[in-house]
Amino acid sequence: MKKDIHPKYFDTTIKCACGNVLEVGSTKGDIRVEICSKCHPFFTGKQKLIDTEGRIERFRRKYEKFQKQETPSR
Ligand SMILES: [Zn+2]
Repeated sequence: MKKDIHPKYFDTTIKCACGNVLEVGSTKGDIRVEICSKCHPFFTGKQKLIDTEGRIERFRRKYEKFQKQETPSR
């Protein structure tokens, strides 16, 4: 059996700009990222949800109208 055919595999920490640290196994050394699952707007639901709430409201109103139109009144 051949030995040492695998690259070095060691514990690595991924440090995010938000301060979150993830411990993973990697062939690379410490990794720095600017965004992670903890601070990404998609996961935090902060920035983008506020932005889309208006749109959701508008959509709801539109949909309500649409539902009312569905009942035949002509
Ligand atoms: Zn982060």
